[in-house]
Amino acid sequence: QPGLHFVATPIGTARDITLRALDVLASADVIAAEDTRSMRRLLEIHGVPLGDRPLISYHDHSGPKGREKLLALLADGKSVAYASEAGTPLIADPGFHLSKDAQDAGHSVTSAPGPSAIITALTLAGLPTDAFFFAGFLPNAKGARRSALEALKDVPGTLVFYESPKRTGEMLRDAARVLGGARQAVVCRELTKKFEEVRRGTLESLAAGIDGPLKGEIVVLIDRSGGEEIAEGDLEDELRKALAHMSVRDA
Ligand code: SAM
Repeated sequence: QPGLHFVATPIGTARDITLRALDVLASADVIAAEDTRSMRRLLEIHGVPLGDRPLISYHDHSGPKGREKLLALLADGKSVAYASEAGTPLIADPGFHLSKDAQDAGHSVTSAPGPSAIITALTLAGLPTDAFFFAGFLPNAKGARRSALEALKDVPGTLVFYESPKRTGEMLRDAARVLGGARQAVVCRELTKKFEEVRRGTLESLAAGIDGPLKGEIVVLIDRSGGEEIAEGDLEDELRKALAHMSVRDA
């Protein structure tokens, strides 16, 4: 149907794509993608013919001109599917300005949801998921990175970061210094891929275990401030329940 359709694509394993995402890609009048080469490959793998439909490269940074072209197609009543290079568009990926402008212009906007490294990492990390804060990529410069971490110190939820494999060790050392080395943290590497790996430990021990650049794609998760206290609280609760049970039985 006419309108803009965001489509989530795999983050490592080609078959991690929904049937609806494939339907949207198969039926859109126009496909726009952050990376047209990976889109062509994805269509090929899943046997979705592009035919003579246009495949347009679009990135939020390509400026208002690229966006105007897509908005003109939408105004013309066309259906436009948009995918970023991997995972969910708009999540540390282009799409926000396109979404906003399309909505402001009164076009229908839909999303075919699917993989995102944030949710995959949270599923595997073993840290609380009731509340989390996605902080994206930290700044590269040490001072700015430490200030950004300082600002996140008391966030009452699991912290989730995307990180470059080259800087993961440095980031963990800075996090240990700013947030305290005893906080629990998790490094997820190459999620959904052949060499998927999940390392758990304290910020200090994880940092000590990395002495050079890592390989692959990385998500770092850090437990909330006071995570230990929460665990102790749970323990007290359990103890109280157990004691209450005993006194009923004894009576
Ligand atoms: N839109 C994507 C999503 O929904 O997850 C994120 C795009 S962002 C430009 C790329 C970053 O996401 C990588 O540098 C890494 O931090 C994280 N990432 C993406 N795929 C990953 C994977 N398979 N394993 C671990 N991290 C991944």
